[in-house]
Amino acid sequence: MPTTPEVNTLHQSDGNEPCFCGSGRKMRLCHKNASPDSRAAHMVRFYRDVEQTISDYRANSPKQPPCREGCSSCCSDYFPVSQVEFELLLVYMERHWSKDEIVQAFEQSEKNLERLKQENKEMYASLVHPIDREGELHDIRHHAGRNSFPCPLLDVENGRCRVYPARPFLCRTHGSTHTFYGSWRERLQPEKVCEYIDGGRTHRKITPNIADYWNPYEQLADVRIGEKRQLLRQYPIFYWMVLYGRHGGGYTTELGNLDNFNLSIDEHNAKMAAHNSP
Ligand code: SF4
Ligand code: SF4
Ligand SMILES: [Zn+2]
Repeated sequence: MPTTPEVNTLHQSDGNEPCFCGSGRKMRLCHKNASPDSRAAHMVRFYRDVEQTISDYRANSPKQPPCREGCSSCCSDYFPVSQVEFELLLVYMERHWSKDEIVQAFEQSEKNLERLKQENKEMYASLVHPIDREGELHDIRHHAGRNSFPCPLLDVENGRCRVYPARPFLCRTHGSTHTFYGSWRERLQPEKVCEYIDGGRTHRKITPNIADYWNPYEQLADVRIGEKRQLLRQYPIFYWMVLYGRHGGGYTTELGNLDNFNLSIDEHNAKMAAHNSP
């Protein structure tokens, strides 16, 4: 049975675990300057916990969601990811993709944004106008749905994720009918997951319950200092690519700074809180 995760994802490590870049080497021997207590390292540990819950569910439940390799309609959904998750994707692409593939993903992302502008004016406005995370969640509840284009990191020929080992949290939860968004009243409504999975409460009983992971996820995605919490804006993968492509290292995997990797999460939270305070 899935267990309810304690808020214990922030345990320390000695750097002997596999590096977040997907090299298969120990972190202390691979990304040597990275802190095992960084936001990125914690996020990767969190991913492992989620994977374990889902694989336990799959091993023990007589009923299974129809998700399988090559099924990828959900990769066209509009959903946001946190910045550290996006940077983990870039780090993975840096190690495993060719330069041409990386450039193409950036180019595709620009095209995706143009398509969104034509097809979903509300969500386009939500991206390009400065709103906070609360405003973003409101827009997602009311206007997000399936885009007419898939994620730029999908291999459209065979429906495979090209960053699978590094894919973000929400990508790992596809197939679950336990929704994160909305009030408890909204959560009781049948929600559309994908065309292959019915929404609704009954179906929730036969899909992995990952809703309990939302709080630990937010701990890593937002800035927390003690009880104080600042919600950080999140974006869909294609829009992060547009932002990094236009304002960062161009069509490369270069990161502006390595704070998500080299600072401990406490140091990073303090730095961001200082930066964001009025
Ligand atoms: S959530 Fe739906 S579209 Fe996505 S893998 Fe599962 S069955 Fe396929
Ligand atoms: S990162 Fe992978 S799993 Fe997630 S939406 Fe993109 S292609 Fe699909
Ligand atoms: Zn590494």
